Amino acid sequence: MKTEFLSPGITCEGCAGTIKRLLGAVPGVRDVGVDVAAKRVIVEHEDSAAVGALEAALNDAGYPVYGVGEPGGARVVDPVCGMHIDPASAAGRSEFEGRTYYFCATGCKDRFDREPSRYLGDPRPAPVAAPGATYTCPMDPEIVRDGPGSCPICGMALEPSVAALGDGPSPELRSMTRRLWACAGLSLPLLAVAMLGPAPGRAGAWLQLLLATPVVLWGGWPFFRRGWESLVNRRLNMFTLVAIGTGAAYLYSLVGVLVPGLLPASARMHGGEVPLYFEAAAVITTLVLLGQVLELRARSRTGDAIRRLLGRAPKTARRIGGDGVEVDVPLGVLAVGDLVRVRPGEQVPADGVVESGAGDVDESMLTGEPMPVPKGPGDPVIGGTLNLDGGLVVRASRVGAETMLASIVRMVAEAQRSRAPVQRLADAVSAYFVPAVLAISALTFAAWLSLGPEPRLVHALVNAVAVLIIACPCALGLATPMAIMVGTGRGASAGVLIRSAEALEVLSKVDTLVLDKTGTLTEGRPRVVEVHALPGFDPAEVVRLAAGLEGSSEHPLGAAIVAEARARGLSTGVAEGFRSTPGRGVEGTVEGRSVAVGSRSILGPGAADDPRAAAIRQSGRTVVYVALDGRPAGMLGLADPVKSTAAGALERLRADGLRVVMLTGDARATAEAVARELGITEVVAEVLPGQKGDEVRRLRAEGRVVAMAGDGVNDAPALALADVGIAMGTGADAAIQSADVTLIGGDLRGLDRARRLSAATMRNIRQNLAFAFLYNLIGVPIAAGALYPAFGLLLSPMLAGAAMTFSSVSVILNALRLQRVAL
Ligand code: ADP
Ligand code: MG
Repeated sequence: MKTEFLSPGITCEGCAGTIKRLLGAVPGVRDVGVDVAAKRVIVEHEDSAAVGALEAALNDAGYPVYGVGEPGGARVVDPVCGMHIDPASAAGRSEFEGRTYYFCATGCKDRFDREPSRYLGDPRPAPVAAPGATYTCPMDPEIVRDGPGSCPICGMALEPSVAALGDGPSPELRSMTRRLWACAGLSLPLLAVAMLGPAPGRAGAWLQLLLATPVVLWGGWPFFRRGWESLVNRRLNMFTLVAIGTGAAYLYSLVGVLVPGLLPASARMHGGEVPLYFEAAAVITTLVLLGQVLELRARSRTGDAIRRLLGRAPKTARRIGGDGVEVDVPLGVLAVGDLVRVRPGEQVPADGVVESGAGDVDESMLTGEPMPVPKGPGDPVIGGTLNLDGGLVVRASRVGAETMLASIVRMVAEAQRSRAPVQRLADAVSAYFVPAVLAISALTFAAWLSLGPEPRLVHALVNAVAVLIIACPCALGLATPMAIMVGTGRGASAGVLIRSAEALEVLSKVDTLVLDKTGTLTEGRPRVVEVHALPGFDPAEVVRLAAGLEGSSEHPLGAAIVAEARARGLSTGVAEGFRSTPGRGVEGTVEGRSVAVGSRSILGPGAADDPRAAAIRQSGRTVVYVALDGRPAGMLGLADPVKSTAAGALERLRADGLRVVMLTGDARATAEAVARELGITEVVAEVLPGQKGDEVRRLRAEGRVVAMAGDGVNDAPALALADVGIAMGTGADAAIQSADVTLIGGDLRGLDRARRLSAATMRNIRQNLAFAFLYNLIGVPIAAGALYPAFGLLLSPMLAGAAMTFSSVSVILNALRLQRVAL
């Protein structure tokens, strides 16, 4: 059977080739035709089941399809609601950009007419709103603008604050590339003319002037403009240096051709002719352009991690309507509570909970864990993850900007632009750097003019220009932020979400790791495994009333008790006057009876521990007491297995010399049983949330650099007090909010990854800073002629230009190596 797709993204034969290759690989496809002019894809395939895969493949490749119908146009898709309709019986139609769209109802048409681009517009709607996109400077993140341009402080081209999908070459890059090619085309013959003869004569001089003028004035125009702005803003920067350097070489040569009589004897060679430096001015301009092009390209790659995350968001969702009819709708119209079908091989469109179906889901793009996770009814799924084999029906719980994926993108983008403390040194130097270089250049000029060999003025000028050109403030300024950009991005693709550059820096210095037990070391999905009622109480009644109360609690223990009641088929009431004391338990009134559930302290001061409790705790189980009407009524034993990866992860961290401390609100005996299992020797148990914070403070006061990992609301204060707070992405929002790092999958192996990433990033920053400092410290004196007295060595301004270009680019390229660091 044949199906026709309309894809406005098709623009050329290249697209056609891509689509053919792509769809050829989709199982069940027999033939693919692409009509470029009509922007149509006609596919012959086995059955309608293949259509979903086809659509997904097209969407993935960036060729979203809007109208789907059988050839001949019997059916089209309403772009607003996604319904398949017959154009003949459509309730409305609209023309937009030369195409006709049909609607199932006038409501859809109205919505479309108001805002057509919303339903057709961007090929892949990003989960982070694009309209409010801002631009910022990598070196000066305090600069935020609505559009592209150059930074008023350092002159650097601004870049989008958050990388977006399909943001092709920036206008800046396009303009610089155009200038580069034109300038290179003129500079090469100019270089040849200048090199050919020592005395090209008047005609040769004019030819050089002719070739150099467009290069320096038009090609170098952006540099002169930024150089001028830097003077106006009193923020001297790289462009001040470049503009003065090339400007001086050009002006001097211009005078040499037009009015050589103006120049003194010290500007003439032995033969009396004035040496020209047109080729130097032109080649330097071309090299700086080359540097800009390479830099802009390399810089755009630092946003790759975010682009990859954004690319995870599917474009459409298959919504199951109330009447059971399934329609593909754009992601933008999906609402919380909607049911969506996720077919095998499809991405989950939003965060939600599996309603029915089962299958393995690949979450590696978010958690960094390659092992697929089995999902069944009741399990949470995350938007953007890949459903591998099963058919799932998911109820959306968070959509659009609320999804995990969207908040990860936001957090990463924010972290990428934050400042690391190590940068302070570079910042301090940067403030004086350009004025210092100008001063050294002036000194060089003066020294060569007064002490140098003849022709003095020529030497003075050439060396002063070389100093201006070789100095590279950018290498210094970019050294840290580039590594932070790439490092945080690398973390995100390994399931380690780093909130700030500072956290990334401190992580590598951590020597003490404090770990919460429940939900951090253990799965955090406890189950009720034993119920003991005191004489006079019915076990089922104890569970039922406890569950009624815990229905209002967010604690995993509470959820376990609710699940137990449900498993026993008990109908639970709703709590009134619910009060939760973090770290102790919950209280309230259920069906007129006062109920308390929690640790022994919930029974009131002086209450005796049940003799059976000790035995339960010995096996690492948690004991929860239930009191009814102020009297102890029973006791529940809950088992919460430790995470399978925890022991291995801790082993590694201990081998690294980390001190590991367990910190829990649970009873000592339970805590120690779990600690034994994991080889943890330091245990602090039975602490309230505030005391968790005190414990962290105490360790810090000992001079320890403390990382605290936790998942619960009760851990939030301690997370905030630690040098680095690490939250489990599977835990409470409060914990994630107050943490500096989030391990998205809740896997403790992420701790080791985070530490290695931190070490690698810091190493990279140190390399960059060392390179940038050394480069300038060595380059500037050589350009000034420091090696001339001893070795007769001088640096031509053109070589200085080449060195400068590659120094700033090499800093970015070195930072990009972090993309591939093994974690
Ligand atoms: P952890 O530090 O291990 O994450 P918490 O501080 O959250 O543990 O809880 C400590 C203890 O307080 C639990 O072991 C339990 O006895 C009691 N508790 C806290 N909240 C609840 C609740 N909602 N229901 C029952 N018991 C609770
Ligand atoms: Mg916990």
